[in-house]
Amino acid sequence: MVEKTSTRTLEKLAAVKGMNDILPPDSARWDNFEAAVKTLMARYAYRPIRTPIVEPTALFVRGTGETTDIVEKEMYSFEDKLNGEALTLRPENTPGVVRAAIEHNLTYDGGKRLYYMGPMFRHERPQRGRYRQFYQLGAEALGFSGPELDVELMLLAHDLFSSLGLRNVRAEINSLGVASERRAHRAALVTYFEKHKQLLDADAQRRLQSNPLRILDTKNPAMQEMVSQAPQLLSFLGDVSLRHFESVKRLLSGCGVEWTVNPRLVRGLDYYSHTVFEFLTSELGAQGTLCGGGRYDGLFEVLGGKPTPAVGWGMGIERVLELLKEQGTNASLPTVDAYAIIPDAAAFPVAMHSIQVLRRAGVSVQMHAGTAEGMGSMKSQFKRADSTGAQFALIFGADELANGQVMVKSLRDGRGEQQPRSLDTMAQWASTLQLRT
Ligand code: ATP
Ligand code: MG
Repeated sequence: MVEKTSTRTLEKLAAVKGMNDILPPDSARWDNFEAAVKTLMARYAYRPIRTPIVEPTALFVRGTGETTDIVEKEMYSFEDKLNGEALTLRPENTPGVVRAAIEHNLTYDGGKRLYYMGPMFRHERPQRGRYRQFYQLGAEALGFSGPELDVELMLLAHDLFSSLGLRNVRAEINSLGVASERRAHRAALVTYFEKHKQLLDADAQRRLQSNPLRILDTKNPAMQEMVSQAPQLLSFLGDVSLRHFESVKRLLSGCGVEWTVNPRLVRGLDYYSHTVFEFLTSELGAQGTLCGGGRYDGLFEVLGGKPTPAVGWGMGIERVLELLKEQGTNASLPTVDAYAIIPDAAAFPVAMHSIQVLRRAGVSVQMHAGTAEGMGSMKSQFKRADSTGAQFALIFGADELANGQVMVKSLRDGRGEQQPRSLDTMAQWASTLQLRT
């Protein structure tokens, strides 16, 4: 009997709003995704980097940009109780990667190709495809200035989508040129928006001074028409920028990647230059951007490093997995090779040892677990075994054990054949099996 320790029922606790549990069997989709990423990154010679989840707040104020949505309203910032340091849960990982590259002088002997996967935190209104803790995969190529790296990174994302079996993902590209070209464009943009001031909403009024480029990003339907007529950055690009952009387009096409130019694809920060791109789907409603990236040649300097050209992207893993589900791509669910049936707890000493031998030989085995009342009926144990998808059951019955054997029963071939096996030769037997796991 269980003793009552208290008469008070404690309140149930729930996860923080917008932060999700990832549970089996769905978690298998995540494993499959991560496995595909690791294989592909190795083929492209990108190496993993892991940086802290907490960074100094100043890193994002400078590296993400003071006038971005992220820094203006989405960061989880707090003061370290012990020393008063201003800290933030990372809302993105590019600033962290660049900080680490500067701190450890990663590009001293040439470029570095890096990738990361992990949780990011943004205080947004939770909805489908938009969470407060979400996961990003990111790839960054540090120390490379040529358009071929912009394209290599886009190919990487493109190949990842196809290796996962995703369909209907389109690529949009644009060029932001260099700082002087953007300044000229900015001046033209401000003049244009001032002419249409009566159409600007409050957000846009504010951005007119701080970051007019971001007005182009507006989601306000009442402003779409006016914004679509605004001067385009592309018409301010000089020869060098145009050549870079042309190379990107030509190389992409040569590799079979379809693209369209979206002149309104912008990043309103000065350290961005040349190529920007997004991979999008129309099948996820408003949260259709799967991956966004671009060249950020000025970021190293903003973070106190030496001038270092760089390019990278970030991908929302939840959105990719959601699209896979939407398109009916089934995850291969994890199963086990064998289920160990334990008719009586007295069998555990021998059974657990034999199961270990099998596991070490590469067989996945799920062991039946008992309760205070006992091991449960054979019928209920077989039902469990069946539900795991195991190929065969290992029955550790007293009679078999007395003979130094275990009964092996096939669960999947319909005949339910069973055969005793010697416990001394389990490892040899395991090597003859066709395992699925
Ligand atoms: P959006 O316009 O959708 O807010 P963003 O410009 O803020 O995107 P980035 O900072 O470029 O996004 O991040 C790269 C990718 O990370 C996005 O394309 C998206 O797939 C994903 N992402 C961004 N914010 C979230 C979030 N709150 N929840 C889930 N995924 C997200
Ligand atoms: Mg956002």
